[in-house]
Amino acid sequence: MKGLLSVIVPAYNEEAALPASAAAITEALEGAGIPFELIYVDDGSKDGTWPLIQKLSAADPRIRGVSFSRNFGKDPAIFAGLSRAAGDCCAVMDCDLQHPPQVLPEMYRLWQSGWQVVEGVKAERGRESPLYRLCAGLFYAVISRTAGLDMRRSSDFRLLDREVMDTLLSIPEREVFFRGLSSWVGFKRTAVEFSVAERVAGASKWSIAALFRYAVSSVTSFSSAPLHIATALGCVLLPLTALLAVIMLASGGASAGWLTLFAVLDLLAAGCLLVCMGILGLYVARILRQVNGRPKYIIAEECGVRHEKAV
Ligand code: UDP
Ligand code: MG
Repeated sequence: MKGLLSVIVPAYNEEAALPASAAAITEALEGAGIPFELIYVDDGSKDGTWPLIQKLSAADPRIRGVSFSRNFGKDPAIFAGLSRAAGDCCAVMDCDLQHPPQVLPEMYRLWQSGWQVVEGVKAERGRESPLYRLCAGLFYAVISRTAGLDMRRSSDFRLLDREVMDTLLSIPEREVFFRGLSSWVGFKRTAVEFSVAERVAGASKWSIAALFRYAVSSVTSFSSAPLHIATALGCVLLPLTALLAVIMLASGGASAGWLTLFAVLDLLAAGCLLVCMGILGLYVARILRQVNGRPKYIIAEECGVRHEKAV
């Protein structure tokens, strides 16, 4: 089908939001006369998400489903959707309607006029708790400084041309960071603004621990700056302690004051060393996961009719 749009929606415990999501996406695209398939990727949900996807798929041949063997995370779910998509382009969006489907026709028209990546940019960030806002602000500051990705207003809501989809699928990285990688690949890009809506039903799936893991994975996949910072710290501490040793020796030896200062510095240096080893460990762990070569996700079940990919 020429101009087919594959809408990819990762879903984790979204039984409450799914019916509204399917109805709103279908209505927006039908209304605009856009040919589409809707792919829900059930990321190992523990509620009735998967049976509901199967039901929706049985009722509408444009809806398909992929179900993971367990929870692998949103980014692997997006990549599973990409691998299953038959469209000439795809749109990635959340299941809770925080990414408004009404923006899809505008994104699609921009794609038709030649743009290969249409990013959904948040006009404003919607309602967030102060703690979430603080952590998100910190994360965006680190990632924009270290990896040069301006993510403050960016989102996973984006439309990609088939060429971009195939490029993303050809990247052999195991631990994928969709937002970063889909910016990193380049291509002809434009953006549309959207207002983040309230979640239609259910609750956010991100715990602080999950956000922290996400932040670490994103920074280590895009930047080696933390390693350089560790080196710089060593370069500062070493001459400083050497200078202090010289001053101490020149001033006539180990008085109680000097010994206390050295004990404090020792503890400080040991703490810095452990932090630096921890940073190094994060990169080593990432290399290990890559070398292990385990898949990004495991698909347990699929449902729906698969379109033939246009050639
Ligand atoms: N999601 C997922 N796997 C997860 C966590 C979330 O597939 O482990 C999906 C979720 O179902 C939703 C999207 O990712 O479609 C965004 O999640 P959420 O709305 O909880 O995030 P927030 O909007 O609070 O950042
Ligand atoms: Mg949400």
